[in-house]
Amino acid sequence: MKIKTAFGSALADLFFPRLCVVCGCGLVRGEVYICSSCLADFPFTDSSYQTETAVWETFEGACRPEKIYSLFYYNKYSNYRKLVYALKYRSGKKLGIYLGEMLGEKIGNQTDIQGIIPIPLHPKRERKRGYNQSLQIALGISAVLDVPVYDRVIIRIRNTVSQTGMNPAERQKNVINIFALKDKTLIQGKHLLIVDDVITTGATMHSCVTTLAEAGNVRFSLGCLGRTWL
Ligand SMILES: [Zn+2]
Repeated sequence: MKIKTAFGSALADLFFPRLCVVCGCGLVRGEVYICSSCLADFPFTDSSYQTETAVWETFEGACRPEKIYSLFYYNKYSNYRKLVYALKYRSGKKLGIYLGEMLGEKIGNQTDIQGIIPIPLHPKRERKRGYNQSLQIALGISAVLDVPVYDRVIIRIRNTVSQTGMNPAERQKNVINIFALKDKTLIQGKHLLIVDDVITTGATMHSCVTTLAEAGNVRFSLGCLGRTWL
């Protein structure tokens, strides 16, 4: 017999209250991760961000992305930053899928994206965290757009130190040659969406796209939850 009834989940909420990831208030029935009030004020990025030039300038030639999709403005003084924090440091596995689905809805099905590539973590870091948050986001997008996730095409061969506090030039240097292409046949001729949790300067994305471009005949778009500037 299935014990999970409405009464059962109400009882579970009583003993293990589910809290809004953004403001910390108790969630009521029907709310998932984010309360209605925080959803109403959600800082969605403007769709004109898709053609912004700030990140474009770091990408050249075959690496230039067609579009940059993002879900919300990431601001270190805003409570919404906690979404990204929770994704990495709490049990954020399912939250990643949930936010990925939101991003997938925002991208919409007017796109010709044929494959989604999550930015890989170094295996050591992935083992420590238990999962790759970018893969979780990719899975959410994949469920909405009905496009496959390719999570074995590229691997991370070098673990990097945290980029917090680095200027753009230092960030770019920090991530040179950290990825290796494992399977180019799977991606050749395709339009790929490269997914990360946050894009700051685009240095990690740039390094990943440069490695993927070695496959030849690949088009790129970028997707992230939080979009920020230094
Ligand atoms: Zn809230």
